[in-house]
Amino acid sequence: MTRPYNFSAGPAAMPEEVLELAAAEMLDWHGSGMGVMEMSHRGSEFISIYEQAASDFRELLNIPQEFKILFMQGGGLGENAIVPLNLSKGGCVDFVLSGSWGQKSYKEAAKYAKPLIAASSEEAGFTFFPNPSTWSLNDSSSYVHLCTNETIHGVECHTLPDLRSMGSKAPLVIDFSSHVLSRSVDWSRVGAAFAGAQKNIGPAGLTLVVVREALIDQALDICPSAFNYKLVAGADSMYNTPPTYGIYIAGLTFQWLKRQVENGKTGLEAIELRNKTKSELLYNFLDSSSFYENKVDHLSRSRMNIPFFLKDESRNEAFLKGAKEQGLLQLKGHKSVGGMRASIYNAMPLKGVQVLIEYLREFERAHS
Ligand SMILES: *Cc1c(COP(=O)(O)O)cnc(C)c1O
Repeated sequence: MTRPYNFSAGPAAMPEEVLELAAAEMLDWHGSGMGVMEMSHRGSEFISIYEQAASDFRELLNIPQEFKILFMQGGGLGENAIVPLNLSKGGCVDFVLSGSWGQKSYKEAAKYAKPLIAASSEEAGFTFFPNPSTWSLNDSSSYVHLCTNETIHGVECHTLPDLRSMGSKAPLVIDFSSHVLSRSVDWSRVGAAFAGAQKNIGPAGLTLVVVREALIDQALDICPSAFNYKLVAGADSMYNTPPTYGIYIAGLTFQWLKRQVENGKTGLEAIELRNKTKSELLYNFLDSSSFYENKVDHLSRSRMNIPFFLKDESRNEAFLKGAKEQGLLQLKGHKSVGGMRASIYNAMPLKGVQVLIEYLREFERAHS
């Protein structure tokens, strides 16, 4: 079976091998006589699936032992409330706004904390990531929040800020939903990180949280128990029934990632290298064309989400129709930005990007 290339921003394309394995194991996981979604989350079969997934995730991202890994529910937007409930102490928190997701987090935090804007690129249409030298951080803030890959605007933070050297004692909280596992993370600069699964990991609903153990004992009294980091961590993510099937698929994705090889590198290093190659190929093509354009500052361009415009927008519909006919799906841009967007997460093979570029070139030739 040949499948089309799916450029959806999320829920997004999964590695084919993962889907095939899940299909093969749907009715009977490893001779247990049960499918994974029929298993008790406290049974030995599921516990082994969970433990392998947690340890593979830690290994892939090289997460130090002082961090807890929590498998939660509620998605990225859920964490927009869960983070301030757990980490704000009801006080000030600093936000760096480089796109829609940071803005959403900022608005939600106002229900539980006092969010302040340390920097924003809104006036420039969110076309760059604000340089840390321009941030104004508040001395008393409980944490500094940033979305390190703005899925809608295609803006990525390529070097995490070193808050200590900027005179701040606050922990850094990152929303890395749309580039988790696409590159390495400098954990020495991070207090907590969260990611919805539906971009680079697995089914929507599952949410991964990586949080320093030293930070988890300060939830507000109103924090729902099932979203209290301390309670969830203390129960190894089984305070309530976790999203078991999502965890299983995530585990298959982690195993797939560990098997990746690229240019002598393996695992996360391999996928990071491939992601660089894929995104550079597409950006180079867009920059070389006078028919298309990407408006994001070169230093802030996302490797995962590449918004672009046809300079003649009257051709948008024909472009999308032709793309679909070529098996290139879900290229329409987010309604708030318009134009097109190619999301090229880990599961998008190099070949998919090459086929997209061929189509872009062909469409340009036929219409200019
Ligand atoms: C997709 C995405 C989310 C998603 O949140 P959901 O609640 O799972 O819909 C959050 N943050 C970012 C940066 C995203 O890309």
